[in-house]
Amino acid sequence: MENILVIVHTEADGALAKPALEALAAGRNISGTFAVGIIGADTQKAANQIAGCGAAKFLTVTGAEFAQPRYASDAAAAEAVAKAAGAGIIIVPHTSRWGRVAAGIAARLGGRADTHATGIANAGDKITITRWYYRQRMEAQMSRAQRPWLIALDPGCVAPLAAAAGTATTTPVTVALPSLRTQVTGVKAPEASQQTIRPDAKLLFVAGAGWTKKQPDGATHVPEAAELILGFLNASKASLGSSKSLVDLSGEGQAVLPFMSHLNQIGQTGSTPRHPKGLSTCCHGEEPHTVGWRFINERRAISLDPNCGWARGKADVLYVADAFAVMRKINEILK
Ligand SMILES: Cc1cc2nc3c(=O)[nH]c(=O)nc-3n(C[C@H](O)[C@H](O)[C@H](O)COP(=O)(O)OP(=O)(O)OC[C@H]3O[C@@H](n4cnc5c(N)ncnc54)[C@H](O)[C@@H]3O)c2cc1C
Repeated sequence: MENILVIVHTEADGALAKPALEALAAGRNISGTFAVGIIGADTQKAANQIAGCGAAKFLTVTGAEFAQPRYASDAAAAEAVAKAAGAGIIIVPHTSRWGRVAAGIAARLGGRADTHATGIANAGDKITITRWYYRQRMEAQMSRAQRPWLIALDPGCVAPLAAAAGTATTTPVTVALPSLRTQVTGVKAPEASQQTIRPDAKLLFVAGAGWTKKQPDGATHVPEAAELILGFLNASKASLGSSKSLVDLSGEGQAVLPFMSHLNQIGQTGSTPRHPKGLSTCCHGEEPHTVGWRFINERRAISLDPNCGWARGKADVLYVADAFAVMRKINEILK
């Protein structure tokens, strides 16, 4: 019987976020003894939030020092919780905070870590994880004999835990902290209206280089393109993706869309997001781009070229049309 421990941290309001609830669901779904470790400034609220999850123990590390994402305090807290639980399988959500400490925790415990797991299952006593390799082209199923085995689970792969709230009995764990040199003094982030990458959006809207190319009137219309794209994003709350050609243009000194960066790039050398639907505009749909659409369930594209890659089996529906005209009309309807 495996000793399973899921370690999560609380948010600023003391609650658990979706990636934490997903990791908890993954831990509860496999058979074994299931314990929960909670780290944060105040951990009781989070324990109460998931009181009915069936955990044998709620181990908590509580204190102002554990509110901040910081290697020294996060790794020390997780190490102490894992030792207190005697955990063989340790699951954390693969957020940037846990991704930073995952390998360090495993090293401290004499274990092994695997990151970017997309699923955790067990057949009898054997626990396996799934993980993608080679830019999401090959899915591997693997298991390890080594214990402790720390598994960082990618967000968005498992339905979040739905557990009854209540009053949880917690077991505090004491942590010997080293001297802390790092302090988080603030967060610099774009305003919400400028934040165009929205992993939870129902729709991925992709803009291709065509938006900046000469149009049938012989001129480019980049400011209008920017207005149409942002107008659609604000109205639909879609997530913004890009082709590589479009984000590379700034390096070539050409007119660019100011809100677009390499972080938006979808494809072989970009990202592979998960959204139920995708709409591509002014993009040719070449294989190195569309490989990033692997997890988009329903795909539509608007291109002037009836022979583009989308027409060759990459999209469910291709509208051979001027994306400027189509998006102008759609924005009018959305208003
Ligand atoms: C090793 C390697 C890795 C790569 N990795 C990636 C990657 O990760 N992601 C990626 O995107 N690419 C990648 N590429 C590049 C990829 O092969 C293509 O060059 C790129 O995706 C093309 O971008 P695009 O379709 O936006 O531009 P273009 O090929 O210039 O296509 C523009 C399209 O816009 C259409 N258009 C123009 N005006 C309009 C209009 N008014 N209405 C409708 N349609 C219009 C045109 O008909 C055309 O089809 C990679 C290439 C290599 C070699």
